[in-house]
Amino acid sequence: MNTEAYLKEINFCKILKTASKALKNKTVIIYGTGKLFQTICKNYDLSDLNIIGICDKKYNDEDFNKKEMGYNIVPSSKISEIKPDCILISTLKSYVLIDYLKDIIKNPSCKVLSLLDFDKKNYCKINFKKTKTTCALYCKDIYADEISSVLKYRFNNFEAKCYITNCNLKKETKIPGYNLSEIKELYENKKINSVLINLYGVSLDVYKIIRELEQIGFDKSKNIYIISYTAFASDLLYYNNKVLSKTIKLYKDFRELPMLKFLLARHCNLNCSCCSHFAPLFKQEQFLSFEKFKQDLDRMKSLFKEIRYISLLGGEPLLNKDLIKIIKYARQEFPYSQMDLISNGILLPKIDKELINTIKEARVYFLISRYPKIDKFVKEEAEKLLQQGLRVKYQEYNIESFNKRYNIKGNSNPWEMFNNCNSRICHTLVDDRFSNCYYPTTAEAANKYFNLKLPCKKSSINIYNKSINAKKILNFLSKPTLMCKYCSKAEKIKWHIEPKECKIEDFFIIE
Ligand code: SF4
Ligand code: SF4
Repeated sequence: MNTEAYLKEINFCKILKTASKALKNKTVIIYGTGKLFQTICKNYDLSDLNIIGICDKKYNDEDFNKKEMGYNIVPSSKISEIKPDCILISTLKSYVLIDYLKDIIKNPSCKVLSLLDFDKKNYCKINFKKTKTTCALYCKDIYADEISSVLKYRFNNFEAKCYITNCNLKKETKIPGYNLSEIKELYENKKINSVLINLYGVSLDVYKIIRELEQIGFDKSKNIYIISYTAFASDLLYYNNKVLSKTIKLYKDFRELPMLKFLLARHCNLNCSCCSHFAPLFKQEQFLSFEKFKQDLDRMKSLFKEIRYISLLGGEPLLNKDLIKIIKYARQEFPYSQMDLISNGILLPKIDKELINTIKEARVYFLISRYPKIDKFVKEEAEKLLQQGLRVKYQEYNIESFNKRYNIKGNSNPWEMFNNCNSRICHTLVDDRFSNCYYPTTAEAANKYFNLKLPCKKSSINIYNKSINAKKILNFLSKPTLMCKYCSKAEKIKWHIEPKECKIEDFFIIE
């Protein structure tokens, strides 16, 4: 939602009137001069508020008494000298700033309030549960303070006691960090009774996180709560109460799909031996049309509503003539999802302005793979795109060899393979069938070409099956499939182009 529409939705006009009346003859400093305040200044009359200055973290001491937007600048360090009666926070995430501002003003009679929540006098709290919930936050540490502030100011009976450090970068936070074994101790000693996972910034593999927490004794239907990636990315935590109350869910009610991969072309212009998507087996062009992509994405949206990561790949996705329409539609339907496009880079010189702008505007990560013979040329082309402002990531390592790990005998232990597999989160949709990795959906081509009987259908689900729902799909994705028996310890195979007549030993371990 854009800022103007949001202000209209919360009836900011009325909030402003309430604030102006309540603060008559009181001196006010506005904290936060970003997009929200600029939109307010442009669309609303603030002259009934006695604003004696504006403050923002970007201002420093040299800015004191300079003017911006018609107001005097007051850096944070000077607020206590100015002694305002009230600080009005004009940011969406005002809760995060309350403790910080109270610390720096050192004046208990100065009120610190949210401009957007003013009509509610105080921060309106949501009754989340009747019993007190003391939780450990499972989140990237840079968000630990932010989430604990939201809980403190918005949720009754939900308090963050600590956060779990093993998923984080190192940084000081106000609440202490513990590793998983220490969390177990806190839980057993009843210092905490639940975990709240904020998925933004933590591993895509939510299933693994849940398994680890279950080993400690937490229960996904009783005391494992989730803030989805999309709820955090879209700032839903800071919107009105109606939305806010739905952002924290028990894991059993959680419905965000972590990953959705589409193969936009099954064939490829490189044809590497051992291609894990079996692209060399496609001798004719085979594209995913825009119409089919739209139908599949709409179906997934009707099942999940939220998807954390959408990945567009192939074969070679740049061969698909509908690529621009596909990217635009995906971004329109999922404005907050992460999105990437994975290419071998051969067609980079042919990318036109319209595609460049589409990738840029849709905030798509452009991931370029590296292959030995084309490495130098592709790198130079990728550099050019980087200079044009595209978010290009050129693989750090050189692919001199591929890992061959599909084993035609099917005699591996599926749980052992699955637990050690990095691809188990590569949820791929091909020809209506969906599975935890690409293998069950792409290997159907190998069944046809080499006349094999790999259990592809039994290892995937049809998303158009009427009895299927999001809960059943997430449950299916969290476990190994029959195909995991056909994976084994990888063997290195030197990178080369597959001959026209494809050889089974270039794709499968067969002895
Ligand atoms: S470039 Fe990628 S998709 Fe194409 S054949 Fe090689 S591994 Fe497969
Ligand atoms: S079949 Fe199982 S073990 Fe093999 S790549 Fe897929 S998830 Fe991993």
